[in-house]
Amino acid sequence: MQSRRNFIHKITASAISIPLVAGISPKIFGLTETAYHNESELKVAIMGLGSYANRVADAMKDCKRAKVTGVISGTPSKIKDWQARFNIPDKNCYNYENFDGIKDNPDIDAVYIITPNALHHPQTLRVAAAGKHVICEKPMSINAQEGREMIEACKKAGVHLLIGYRMHFEANTLEIVRMRREGELGPIRFFQGLSGFKIGDPTQWRLNRELAGGGAMMDIGIYAINGARYMVGEEPIWVTAQEVKTDPVKFREGVDETITFQLGFPSGAIASCLSTYNMNYLDKFYLNGDKGFAEMQPSTGYGPIRSWTHKGRLDLPHVTHQTTQMDQMAAMILDGKKAIIPVDGEEGWKDMVIIDAIFEAVKTGKKEEIKYL
Ligand code: NDP
Repeated sequence: MQSRRNFIHKITASAISIPLVAGISPKIFGLTETAYHNESELKVAIMGLGSYANRVADAMKDCKRAKVTGVISGTPSKIKDWQARFNIPDKNCYNYENFDGIKDNPDIDAVYIITPNALHHPQTLRVAAAGKHVICEKPMSINAQEGREMIEACKKAGVHLLIGYRMHFEANTLEIVRMRREGELGPIRFFQGLSGFKIGDPTQWRLNRELAGGGAMMDIGIYAINGARYMVGEEPIWVTAQEVKTDPVKFREGVDETITFQLGFPSGAIASCLSTYNMNYLDKFYLNGDKGFAEMQPSTGYGPIRSWTHKGRLDLPHVTHQTTQMDQMAAMILDGKKAIIPVDGEEGWKDMVIIDAIFEAVKTGKKEEIKYL
C-alpha cells in the first residue's frame, strides 16, 4: 500500500505538471521545487567521459532528482578519476565491450550517451536492449533512418528515449515560446537562426565524417534547425540550401564548413539560417510576428541567455542548463511529466529528417520538399 507521504508527493508532482504542460510562464519555475521533493531519483550512468560529459556531471551535482551512479568509458584513467569525483563503486563501471551487463545492475536506471555522433545509434540500440532508459546527445544520429531505428528499439524495449535538447528547459526560451503560443507576437512570419563558431584542432572527431556524420550542421547548425521549429511552432515543409567551403583540406568531402539554408512552413512563415565552423560570435535567434518580435543573443550557448522582445528585456535568471534538464528529464521518466517543448525521439528524428533534406538541397541546388515519412 502506498504511504501517505508518497501519495502527497504524487499529488504535488501531478499538480505541478498540469501548468507546465499548459505552458505557464517559466517565471514561476520556483514552484517546481515542490515537485522535486519526491523520494525517487533517476540513477544515471554516463557513457563517454569527454568534455560535455564533464559539464553534465558537474551540473548534476545540483540536481534534486538525478544522480550520476555509473560510467561507461574506453579510458581506464578517466574511470578512476570519475569514481573518486562521484563516489562510483567498481561494480557500476563499464567499458564499451561489457556495458550490456548494465541489464542486471539496479544502480542504473538510464544511460546518458555523450559520445561522437555516429556512435549514438549503435549504443542506443544496446542500452535499450539492456532494458535501460536512454538519454542521447544531439544529433541523435547521423541520419533519419538511424534515428527511426533508435525510436523503434526503445519502443520495443519499453524504455524512454530523450534527446539532450537542454534549451527546451531554458527560461528565456520558454517565455518566448509562451508569448508566441498565446498570440502576443501575432501570426509568425519570419525566423532567423545563426549558429556557428570557428573550430580548432583539424584532427578532432568533429571533422571526421565517419564519427561526426558531417560537419558544422550536425554539431551546431542543428541548433538553428531545432530553434526554427520551436520558435515558429510549426514543422518546415521545404528547404533550399547553399554550401560554401573556404578550406577543403580541413573540411574534407562530406564535412560541411558553412551552409546557409532557408525553411518554409505550412503557414507561409519562412526561416533564414546559417550553420558554420568558420565564424565566431554566431549564436543568435530572431523571431518576427505581425504584433511583435523576440530576439536572443546568445540564444543557445551555456548562458546566461540574453533576450528581449518588443515589450522590453527578458533576461530571466540563469540556472545551469544541464541541472534543470536532468531534473526535468528525471521527472519525465519517473513521474511521466511532459516537457513543454518535446525532447523525445520523434523530436530528434524531425531534426534528422531536415538535415537529410538540407544535404540533399545542397547537392541538387533545388528546393527540396521535407517529408516526415
Ligand atoms: P569529446 O570528444 O569531448 O568526448 C567524447 C567522448 O566519447 C570521448 O572523451 C570518449 O570518452 C568517448 N568516445 C568513445 N569512442 C570515441 C571515439 N571513437 N572517438 C572519440 N571519442 C570517443 O566530445 P564532446 O563531449 O564535446 O561531444 C560528445 C557529444 O555531445 C556529441 O554528440 C556532441 O554533439 C554532444 N554535445 C552536446 C552539447 C550540448 O550542449 N547539448 C555540447 C557539446 C557536445 P571515453 O574516453 O570515456 O570513452
